[in-house]
Amino acid sequence: MSRSVLVTGGNRGIGLAIARAFAEAGDKVAVTYRSGEPPADFFAVKCDITDAAQVDQAFKEVEAEHGPVEILVANAGVTRDTLLLRMSEEDFTSVVDTNLTGAFRVVKRASKLMMRARTGRVVLISSVVGLSGSPGQSNYAASKAGLVGFARSLARELGPRNITVNVVAPGFVDTDMTAVLSDERRAEIVAGVPLGRYAAPAEIASTVRFLASDEAAYITGAVIPVDGGLGMGH
Ligand code: NDP
Repeated sequence: MSRSVLVTGGNRGIGLAIARAFAEAGDKVAVTYRSGEPPADFFAVKCDITDAAQVDQAFKEVEAEHGPVEILVANAGVTRDTLLLRMSEEDFTSVVDTNLTGAFRVVKRASKLMMRARTGRVVLISSVVGLSGSPGQSNYAASKAGLVGFARSLARELGPRNITVNVVAPGFVDTDMTAVLSDERRAEIVAGVPLGRYAAPAEIASTVRFLASDEAAYITGAVIPVDGGLGMGH
């Protein structure tokens, strides 16, 4: 059965890999992009998730093309790393506004029709850093930890409507986001990863796809690490 899937930030990196994984499974995939060119392979809608009106418009376009969103992947996210004493309020609030409040905006919009349909799947992309913390990333870690409480509350709230809400917590993944790290920092990170390497985006995507599958129908409120063992114990 072909389902209507929406992936935020699906124009590159992990989001694009997630979009491809669902498309390979035969689903109808829509992605949001904020800047640059939309990816050619998918129905793409322009949307900045910090703006509720743009989120609403994006959903309207996706609903007109593919029908109500049945699987929502809240993937779009940003970093603005710096140590606390150098972190401006804007550094903090802008990251939370994108990563956490952005997820709130899209999940709220999607949940309306999912509740009516009495079925739905929501997957939020958090990070190992939200569980273990990371120096210089207090804004990012706070936003990613916030997703866990958000998801678990929604798992309780929406469970009776047969909507599952889960979190995937990737470790370090080869994308533009991590390409900015120095070779030295990368070597330090890899030294702490039991599997001794970064993940490929497709390795995150396969877990997301599983959480949206029939096989995962009884999993909700879970935080699934896909981190090569980096965050074990958190
Ligand atoms: P990238 O930097 O490669 O891509 C980020 C995506 O988010 C882009 O599509 C970007 O759109 C989109 N985005 C950012 N801000 C907004 C916004 N305000 N509105 C709409 N879209 C926005 O990141 P990754 O693919 O690496 O990361 C994807 C997710 O995975 C993020 O939530 C990230 O925090 C998380 N993650 C990544 C890890 C990693 O190691 N890479 C590890 C753990 C978690 P645009 O192209 O227009 O900028």
